[in-house]
Amino acid sequence: QAIAAIESSQPQHNAYTHFDGDLALATAKAIDAKRAAGKPLGPLAGVPVAVKDVICTSDMPTTCSSKMLRGFRPPYDATVVERLRAADAVIVGKTNMDEFAMGGSTETGAFGVTKNPWDVTLTPGGSSGGATAAVAAQTVPLSLGTDTGGSIRQPSAFCGVTGLKPTYGRVSRYGLVAFASSLDQIGPIAWSAKECALLLNTIAGYEQRDSTSLDRVVPDYVTATDSNDLRGVRVGVLREAMTADGVDPAVQAAVAHAIGVFAELGAEIVDVDLPHREYWVPTYYVIAPSEASSNLSRYDGAHYGHRSEDSDNLEAMYCKSRAEGFGAEVKRRIMIGTYALSEGYADQYYNQALKVRGLIRADYDAAFSQVDVLLGPVTPTPAFELGAKIDDPIQMYLCDLFTVGANLAGVPAISLPAGLTDGGLPVGIQLQAPALEESRLLFAGAAYQ
Ligand code: GLN
Repeated sequence: QAIAAIESSQPQHNAYTHFDGDLALATAKAIDAKRAAGKPLGPLAGVPVAVKDVICTSDMPTTCSSKMLRGFRPPYDATVVERLRAADAVIVGKTNMDEFAMGGSTETGAFGVTKNPWDVTLTPGGSSGGATAAVAAQTVPLSLGTDTGGSIRQPSAFCGVTGLKPTYGRVSRYGLVAFASSLDQIGPIAWSAKECALLLNTIAGYEQRDSTSLDRVVPDYVTATDSNDLRGVRVGVLREAMTADGVDPAVQAAVAHAIGVFAELGAEIVDVDLPHREYWVPTYYVIAPSEASSNLSRYDGAHYGHRSEDSDNLEAMYCKSRAEGFGAEVKRRIMIGTYALSEGYADQYYNQALKVRGLIRADYDAAFSQVDVLLGPVTPTPAFELGAKIDDPIQMYLCDLFTVGANLAGVPAISLPAGLTDGGLPVGIQLQAPALEESRLLFAGAAYQ
């Protein structure tokens, strides 16, 4: 069924970079045989799941939507993929994304843009736009995205689905192709918070092959979503963010409505502020490209992926392979990052950004000493038209106004569908919680839904 749904959606939405009906069917049959033999089955037995194409799979290509990795087949599975297989899920395919997860519209990849299933003239958001479109178009109930600076939450808001960025370290990054290693997290995307909880149960937990993995007990996230009773929960409203310039009235209305719903469920509503919010985007756009410039140095034409055919010495091979293999946005990030890290400039840019990151973290600590969760917008606007921002990087980066704080601070955050605009487009709201409090987000999110 999932394969038929993908085959009919793919020409319209291009949510997948790769799908394999025969393989999915074989996996499903193997699970059926296990069931018939009376063997115990995992919690996702037979459930079709799509995986963003930045996560390594040994039986399918992993391209990061880049010409650089066209046709690349990793020799191993990412930890999250191993865990999906152990839970008896059926991985049906890999989803489209911005190249190396850099972007906010799923337009920078080498294999065509993904279109928003709500309106194919609009972007699904990005960079996990394929993963959110795959769920929104009902080709799969669950998918895995990645979020370095909003890439699960922003496209979830644009596609009317639920997406959670876990605490930094909660989910192993082993087998996730690195973009910005101190910010990257893999997380679940589904229609509802409860379904996200089910997927998070499978992927969360300590794993020694990721040195930043947190060795902490994983609660049962599904049980956390069982109660609707928000009495005693302090919801901090990011009033400044909600009413900031450029925030679409439909987004403001969605947050205002959510405040009402949480109050009705018994929550205490408190206004709070994250005073360094205006520095989130500039800080992120120094740190993320700096880490990217270092991580992407491995694509040299020798170790991985694309090698230029047109070179007669080693240096030319490096240069031409990279010039041909990377797209414009990736090159922009590498140049920004290399500059920010270079001798003579690092103190002014990279080291300065690290200091500001400390202030941003302290803001979160102060806010969470007053409240249990933070409520605010995910994005300033609903989904915009394909092509509208692709030639204007600053406008594209400003889509990340409300999302990158959680990555810089390492805290978990969820994007929840919160109704439609007058024009019928989905709008999201965002909840954020202290580190390792995903259950709180899923509980409050499920209660809201
Ligand atoms: N828009 C952000 C960026 O382009 C999102 C990245 C992400 O979360 N992968 O860097």
